Amino acid sequence: MSLFEMPEFDAHEQVVFGHDPASGLKAIIAIHSTALGPAAGGCRMWVYASTTEAVRDALRLSRGMSYKNAMANLPFGGGKSVIIGNAQKSKTQALFEAFGKFVDSVGGRYIAAEDVGTTTADMENVSHKTRYVSGLNRRPGEAGGDPSPKTALGVHLGIKAAAKFRLGRSDLQGLSVAIQGVGGVGYHLCRLLTEEGARVYAADVRPAAVERVRDEFKAMGVPVETVLSQEVDVVAPCALGAILNAQSIPVMRARIVAGAANNQLAEDKDGLALQQADILYAPDYVINAGGIISATREYAGGASEAQVNTEIEAIPARLTEIFERARRESRTTNAVADQLARERIGSASQRRVA
Ligand code: NAD
Repeated sequence: MSLFEMPEFDAHEQVVFGHDPASGLKAIIAIHSTALGPAAGGCRMWVYASTTEAVRDALRLSRGMSYKNAMANLPFGGGKSVIIGNAQKSKTQALFEAFGKFVDSVGGRYIAAEDVGTTTADMENVSHKTRYVSGLNRRPGEAGGDPSPKTALGVHLGIKAAAKFRLGRSDLQGLSVAIQGVGGVGYHLCRLLTEEGARVYAADVRPAAVERVRDEFKAMGVPVETVLSQEVDVVAPCALGAILNAQSIPVMRARIVAGAANNQLAEDKDGLALQQADILYAPDYVINAGGIISATREYAGGASEAQVNTEIEAIPARLTEIFERARRESRTTNAVADQLARERIGSASQRRVA
């Protein structure tokens, strides 16, 4: 199937393939839209089953970034990059420097940051070859650095907004939350939730990650296979995408799904399945914008950590507006969010043409 016929293709502006035999780099940059500004989005390093799967992921994730940046009111469009490779075994400085050259080759139309499989240290290596990168080491008080704690902050505040809307709860005391994946974001989310008295159940394919949150925050470990069907108030997906699907939704017992993972719905119709099951879904790209808010403010320069936190604190009100509109119009929360994002991008495109 050609790229233009892929279901994930959605009028993307540019898709570029990069190859560097010396370092072994095989990468793709997908720029979905620059209507609102340069395309900002993370770099994922992953062992894809095929190049086609990597392209699909880049297309899907980059569109998600357009929507995410638009909904976070950021002056950035949406893009994403993927490096095809094993993040546990194949990382070298040369690989990320070659990736830096690749990013530089699109001349600032795409700005990279870390994502699943990449770290602040990797982005430092990228920065040796391009200035179009963020998520670098920063001094305390300044905006930027590892985006995971900032994403976790937004998700934490989003869970509070969802709990208020769906359960009438004004605090998190005793609220039960099952977190799928306690890595970069899930770990910090676990900390924030337990600090406010929530009961957290954690699952991760890495047993050491669960042990850590058990030791540090008294979270309870649950099996990876059953984390989504736990009898809890909230399920917080913080691992990978497409986990809300025809298999998982019928067995879910939570009243709320609110987590950091990108592209949680396998298909748009799964949003309807959640609505019909009376499960409130916090659209992923709205609730998980904390990291990109931090990374783009770091990139633009001049913002303090306090300013970034203030922007992240706007996430719960944005979610509540979507929840209310969805209820008022008997629509799914994902449909309402998609429409709002498309409107913002569409009016920016029209201004650009005019
Ligand atoms: P991470 O790789 O640090 O953590 C993911 C964790 O999930 C790992 O500990 C991994 O072992 C675990 N995991 C993988 N498959 C699993 C499974 N089937 N069941 C249970 N656990 C599983 O990644 P992260 O940075 O924490 O990001 C998590 C999710 O949030 C991703 O979907 C990412 O795209 C999204 N996200 C992250 C950020 C950020 O700032 N890091 C921002 C926005 C969105």
